[in-house]
Amino acid sequence: MVVVGSNPATPTIGTMTTPLALYFHWPFCRSKCTYCAFNSVARILRPAEERAWVQKLKDSFDWHIRHVLPAEGAFSTPTSLFFGGGTPSLLSPEALQTLITHVCLPWNCRAESLEITLEANPETLTEERLQAFAQAGVNRLSLGIQALSAQDLSTFGRRHSLEQALQALSWTKNIFSNYSADFLYGRPNQSLKSWRQELSQILALECPHLSLYELTLEPHTPLCKKLGNTLPRNTASFLKATQYLTEETGYTAYEISNFCQLGMICRHNLAYWRYHDYLGIGPGAHSRLCIGGAKKALTAYSDPLQWFTSVQQQAGGIEETILLSPYNSLIEHLLVGLRLKEGLRWTQLIASAGPALVSTLRGSPLFQKLQEGHFLKITKEGLRTTSKGRAYVDGIVKNIADIFPKN
Ligand code: SF4
Repeated sequence: MVVVGSNPATPTIGTMTTPLALYFHWPFCRSKCTYCAFNSVARILRPAEERAWVQKLKDSFDWHIRHVLPAEGAFSTPTSLFFGGGTPSLLSPEALQTLITHVCLPWNCRAESLEITLEANPETLTEERLQAFAQAGVNRLSLGIQALSAQDLSTFGRRHSLEQALQALSWTKNIFSNYSADFLYGRPNQSLKSWRQELSQILALECPHLSLYELTLEPHTPLCKKLGNTLPRNTASFLKATQYLTEETGYTAYEISNFCQLGMICRHNLAYWRYHDYLGIGPGAHSRLCIGGAKKALTAYSDPLQWFTSVQQQAGGIEETILLSPYNSLIEHLLVGLRLKEGLRWTQLIASAGPALVSTLRGSPLFQKLQEGHFLKITKEGLRTTSKGRAYVDGIVKNIADIFPKN
């Protein structure tokens, strides 16, 4: 069935049952944080430049609608839209509204039916801007606080003070019912005891959703160059304490780094971990789309200017498109699915990788060992990591990958 959109310039596409998550990447920040390895550049845009970049995001989205999605017929109405970065809260509310309205056109869907998340940095917010973001259609805010320590915020090169972060959180609470806050643990010189104390303070803030990530130091970052490899490395203890304290306070530790109060799970990120289809637009964005039973992987140019030029030349900003082999789909699906407390079902894994590989996996002695070591829980329906195993997902999947002959 073809649904007619209201903008004749925008191609229309049909509907089907595959869930689809949409992502827009805004690559600009006011300055670079010392630990940052994300695809972002320090640049302040003038209003005319912002308009030009927003137009390119729209053009790239339209290119994908024309050249990627229709290739397989119909895709379902999106369930979520996520503005990540970079610092997308630097965008004007008008620009966000333009993008939200634009992505609804091909499906003729209502913005209110989507979970629409905006990543935000505290220093970019005022109460008025938050209200304007909500009026533009944003219905979920993800606030990057990172630490309740003024000293660590300074070490990280964050542009906000602790007071600014708490003020922004207070405004957010008054305006959004669905919001999240991000924090980092395993920070330089942070003991497990001091993280437990800080986590108690974080939990007292009563955010409906928390993302609590372990800090990793990527080699090229200024913080890594300054500190070397001096982070506390008892990852499993930090993770165990984080899972325990959050669950004791009534949160569900539904993913290694994500915790929610009842009903406040992040729909968008769940789509990544369930290995559903997602379409990413913007510099460095990735997509995974199921094409004829196999996953198609699209990667956009990460350099913003290369991406901009590619969109200008009617090439969508895409650097590479590949069809993933069943083996690669299997490994990718395990890497994301085993991060989830719910794990994954055999039927889902078979849909990604086919029955032959899954059958080899299930018959492998390694599986037995991982179960006996209390890393995995395997049932007739599927598999999941235990809370112990969740600290070692990458290692578990690496071992599983070695079962198969290299291709
Ligand atoms: S605000 Fe986020 S994306 Fe920007 S430099 Fe800091 S960590 Fe990186």
